[in-house]
Amino acid sequence: MKVHARVVPEGAGHGHAVVIGSSLAGLAAARALAGFMDRVTVIERDWLPRGPGRRRGVPQARHTHSLPTAAHQGLEQLFPGIGEDLVRAGAVHLRVPEDLLLLGPAGWLPRFDAGLSVLSAGRDLLDAVVRDRLRADPRVRFLHDHDVVGLRPGPQDTVTGVYARGRDRRSPGGWSPARLIPADFVVDASGRGSRAPQWLAELGYEPPAETVVPTGTTRATSLYAPPVGHVADWQGVWLMAAGDDLRQGLLHPVEGGRWSVSLTTPDTTPAPADHEQVLHAAAALRDPLLRDLLATATPLGPVYRCAGTDSRWRHYERLRRWPDQFLVVGDAFAALDPAHGDGMTLAVQGALLLQRMLTAHGTAVGVTYRLRRALAHQLAPLWRSGTRLRTPAGPASEDRRPLRERLHARRLSRLAAAATADPDAAALLLRLHHGLVPPGALLGPRALRAALRRPAPQDAPPSLTHGPQARRRRPVVPVAPVIGVATGSVRPRPTGSSAHWPTTAPAGDRR
Ligand SMILES: Cc1cc2nc3c(=O)[nH]c(=O)nc-3n(C[C@H](O)[C@H](O)[C@H](O)COP(=O)(O)OP(=O)(O)OC[C@H]3O[C@@H](n4cnc5c(N)ncnc54)[C@H](O)[C@@H]3O)c2cc1C
Repeated sequence: MKVHARVVPEGAGHGHAVVIGSSLAGLAAARALAGFMDRVTVIERDWLPRGPGRRRGVPQARHTHSLPTAAHQGLEQLFPGIGEDLVRAGAVHLRVPEDLLLLGPAGWLPRFDAGLSVLSAGRDLLDAVVRDRLRADPRVRFLHDHDVVGLRPGPQDTVTGVYARGRDRRSPGGWSPARLIPADFVVDASGRGSRAPQWLAELGYEPPAETVVPTGTTRATSLYAPPVGHVADWQGVWLMAAGDDLRQGLLHPVEGGRWSVSLTTPDTTPAPADHEQVLHAAAALRDPLLRDLLATATPLGPVYRCAGTDSRWRHYERLRRWPDQFLVVGDAFAALDPAHGDGMTLAVQGALLLQRMLTAHGTAVGVTYRLRRALAHQLAPLWRSGTRLRTPAGPASEDRRPLRERLHARRLSRLAAAATADPDAAALLLRLHHGLVPPGALLGPRALRAALRRPAPQDAPPSLTHGPQARRRRPVVPVAPVIGVATGSVRPRPTGSSAHWPTTAPAGDRR
């Protein structure tokens, strides 16, 4: 959406904004509002720690998170220099696919400079660094340990505040009676569990229609210490889902030199609950690499599981009657299947849109009706690529998807096959995966050219330190005589910027 910005003096009498929820969507929205409103109050149900710390309200923080290119670039606009702050705090900059062993849907992807990267860190660290930046803004105040329970209606279809109750251990139920917090603009960023539909119903508004696309998967995550003396020419491992095989494995380096490892399993099989089951599930992935790595690593805590991650779009943009000065953003508006890691991109892009439209409109009054629609417009390509790319085909005879969907899936699988040898095709596949190009890019000349190629898939990971290539190169006498611990004697291959494959290993050499 093209919006021509007018110059508006910052915080010029636009009043007080309230943001409900202080996870990434709330923090980004608060930053966007702080440049326009006089004051912003971020209301958070949890107690907020200084620095990284576990929170009940963000249970997904235990699972592997990475900040994709688009989300990182957007955050830089809101908080200049945030990438450096994150890296200084311990986040790891991963070039995609250069720093990864990445098993795509049709085989291992070459490693090359595609201009894509993610920042990998524990989610608590990510939120803490962004929160600290916001805390430094004198216009922003955090009200933690407060639960928003309703909206205050104003005249002529407006919202003019929220009702919130504070945590109070002495009160029966653990909360004090709700009190009014007046506001000129209210943003709900309270995540998947948002109660906005009920709050609106209490004020006489219709509930939004919902589109739900089940993921049919559960995620299990744990932290590991790499084996002593671990040396590798890669930093992370992605074993992606392929067609109907929804299983997926991720290994990301995070602060403190640890590995965050997530396994996605279909709901038809029980998700791993302990480390032995994690090894078992990792062995069932399309390549044994992750199992081999975990077998020599040390678990650093329990295995956490996460189900109920269906993609869910609450269609607020379709409601004809809508209260002005109220907006729903982030997961509360549309929560995406975590397999693509788009949630934080959506949160940040939504905040940037809010900032642009407020600035262009010049007042916080009379803008949310259009803002809802603009948010939906912004979401649509991410939603389409996220849900379509994941729709399993099922057996050919039972594939009841519309022709358009089937053609899309066929083009995608051709592109995935070409991506195993052609960096151009691999870059396009990754851009589609990250929602950086719309699904229509599959009809472009690059995709069509790639579809004509049928390269033989590489069956060994592109690494000289791991996989069959490395095994053959191990010295006869180990340097460190410890069973199950890497010797570190293999010289890491320098990461360059051109595509590099090891010579193909003989098939019989794999395991
Ligand atoms: C397993 C998993 C893995 C993921 N991995 C990635 C990834 O790698 N990359 C990525 O970009 N995205 C990922 N996501 C998505 C990402 O976690 C979310 O999109 C992101 O946290 C933004 O969500 P949010 O701020 O809208 O809501 P949430 O993160 O759910 O936060 C909501 C906040 O609101 C507070 N709150 C709730 N109700 C109230 C109330 N009534 N009053 C006051 N406060 C309230 C909560 O305590 C919480 O702090 C993943 C999600 C899952 C489930």
